[in-house]
Amino acid sequence: MKIYINGKFYSKADAVVSVYDHGLLYGDGVFEGIRAYGGRIFKLREHIDRLYESAKSIMLKMPITKNKLMEEIIRTVRANGLKDAYIRLVVTRGIGKLGLNPFHCGKPQIIIIADKIVLYPKAFYEKGLSVVTVPTQRNIAEAVNPRIKSLNYLNNILAKIEACNAGVHEAIMLNASGYVAECTGDNIFIVKKGVLKTPPLYMGILEGITRDEIIRLARQFGIEVMETILTRHDIFNADECFLTGTAAELIPVVKVDERVVGTGKPGAVTRKLTAAFHELVRRVGVAV
Ligand code: PMP
Repeated sequence: MKIYINGKFYSKADAVVSVYDHGLLYGDGVFEGIRAYGGRIFKLREHIDRLYESAKSIMLKMPITKNKLMEEIIRTVRANGLKDAYIRLVVTRGIGKLGLNPFHCGKPQIIIIADKIVLYPKAFYEKGLSVVTVPTQRNIAEAVNPRIKSLNYLNNILAKIEACNAGVHEAIMLNASGYVAECTGDNIFIVKKGVLKTPPLYMGILEGITRDEIIRLARQFGIEVMETILTRHDIFNADECFLTGTAAELIPVVKVDERVVGTGKPGAVTRKLTAAFHELVRRVGVAV
């Protein structure tokens, strides 16, 4: 495996960063999870745009242009001879001193790992996931805005721990007002009476690239889509529920807090959108 760090490739064993890097010391940095299907990188430009927005928000000055970064990602996937890949793009604040001040750090470090990922066991894609809501609330936007895809994922990790403790693979996180926000690494959708519903960005969520794509696909099919406030009650009483994310793709949810959702099986809208998504990712994207 060849891992990219600041323009050079290293073996997995040699791909290391300084213990003075503020990415390690403070979780100070940003990242993206990107995917390639059949030799095409899906929504590369959108991921790069989101990364630069996250970087701008935390006043991290990207050391290379967007075009150059896209070239470097393609070069890394190629160097690893991968057609299907999960690409982890990480930008750390760089090497600094002890102490929070990010302005004492040198150049941001760019790391690109092209590998594989299996987020949930395969069987759940066919029979659906069981999930729980957890006590850990999603970060409020006025503290750390969930739209920043930052290296500090403790908020989500705490929720993931609660999911694991409950014996399930994923958690639904509520915001500080008790409304449904998103899952630890995925956005959430429900279908009710034929309408596809998902929480709006102002509920305090990451603007998922898969989420945007599913909204677009659904509208193409003539399905009504509403970005609307959702409560646990709405999820319990949904006809269908599913999660979206680059790593997760689309995964059905059939049980929430021990309430069976809909028929307890992946629903028709979920299956239709899943098929359309799988067809799309193989057709579009930047060729490697
Ligand atoms: N929410 C969170 C908290 C995430 O970390 C992610 C990405 N893993 C998503 C949603 C889904 O975003 P995307 O579709 O862009 O991968």
